[in-house]
Formats: sequence, structure tokens, C-alpha cells
Amino acid sequence: MKMYIIFMGPPGAGKGTQAERVAAEAKLEHLAPGDLFRQAVKQQSLLGSEVQSFMEKGELVPDEITIRVILEKLDDIGEETGVILDGFPRNYNQAVALDEALEKKNKAIDRVVYISVEQPELVRRLSSRWLCRECQSPYSSESAENPHLEGCPGCGGELYQRADDKPETVARRLEVYFKETAPLIEYYRKQNKLIEIEGEGAVVEITGRIIKALE
Ligand code: AMP
Repeated sequence: MKMYIIFMGPPGAGKGTQAERVAAEAKLEHLAPGDLFRQAVKQQSLLGSEVQSFMEKGELVPDEITIRVILEKLDDIGEETGVILDGFPRNYNQAVALDEALEKKNKAIDRVVYISVEQPELVRRLSSRWLCRECQSPYSSESAENPHLEGCPGCGGELYQRADDKPETVARRLEVYFKETAPLIEYYRKQNKLIEIEGEGAVVEITGRIIKALE
């Protein structure tokens, strides 16, 4: 698949998990500003110091930073590979900047996968989410195996909760999502690019639904 695909959905919809799985299966690059920013904060780089306070409050990182970082990464990826953009664009301004940058390369977004999940389920998922410090895989503390007591089932790494998964920050992230990001659903629907995927159910099943819809 040599496509440019956006993954959209509220925080907690499983966007990151699914984007990673689909990228691996369809051999696409996976580009996620949230992952890049978290890595920058961890490494205490200049970018990390610029983005940290916004992330901790559940606010969007300013467009001038986010757009620059993502467009630079897209340039690095090269022309031959398709890309999944996971969590970008997150507002109208970013969507327009992305369209313009792709147009200059005679490219365009092919599909937008929108993963929908009801709000009470989102809050439940986010507050029970644990991540592996090493491989970034997410796990739920509600699952039977209680993985945070054991470490990462995949690689044995330490599991931790994201600072921005605290209840107050979760509420703000959802608010920002509905105000800034959700309007993009219409933007892409009008362009006939939107694929809506029901995000409740088993992870593998949802991946299957997405792959099928993209084919
Ligand atoms: P995520 O891992 O996608 O939930 O992103 C974590 C945080 O990174 C968000 O709450 C924002 O603070 C920041 N972030 C991620 N993507 C963007 C974006 N496209 N624009 C602005 N900020 C972003």
C-alpha cells in the first residue's frame, strides 16, 4: 500500500494501537506527533522543553511547532513509502498546512480512518491505561492478567501511566478533541475520504475491519 492515511479519533479510541498494527501489516511508516513529543520530553531535548507544559495540561502543542516537526519528518520519509499519520492533523490549520505541503509534492491524503468510541468508554479506557516504558505497548489495568504488576507481557519492560491520563487532564483532552479535532471529520467526509470504524471490540478484530476497509 503506497497510501497517505490519517488516523483520527478521540483520545482513548485505540488510534495509536491500531495505527501501529495497520502500519506493520501494510508496511507503511507510522508517524505520531504524540510519540515524537513524548520521546523529546524523555530525552530532555529543546523540542521536549517546548512541548512539555502543553502536553501536561492536555492542550495542543502550538501549530508552528507541530506542523514544522511533522512536515520535516514527512520529507525524511521519502517518496516511495506510504505513511500513516497518527494524531495529525488535530485542527483545521494543521489540515490545511498538510494539504498544501502534499500538493507541492503532487500528493494528497488518500484515506482518513476515523475510529469512533462512546465517551464513557473513552474515560474508562484512559484511566485504566498503562504503557511499557521500553516498547510503548499499551495495556489495560482492567484486563484479567493485571499486567502492571508483572511488567510488559511483550518485552518485560516497566509499565507506567501517562501523566496526561490523570482524570483532570483526560477531561481537558476530550474537550480539546471535540472542539478542535472533531470538526475535521466533516472536512474529510466532504472530500469523500472518510472511513468510519466502530472502535469497540477486540483489538485484532478492529485491525481487520480497518485493513478490509482500506483495500
Ligand atoms: P497523543 O499521544 O496523540 O494522545 O498526544 C499526546 C499529546 O501530544 C496531546 O495531548 C498534545 O498535547 C500533543 N499532540 C499530539 N499530536 C498533536 C497535534 N497534531 N497538534 C498539537 N499537539 C499534539
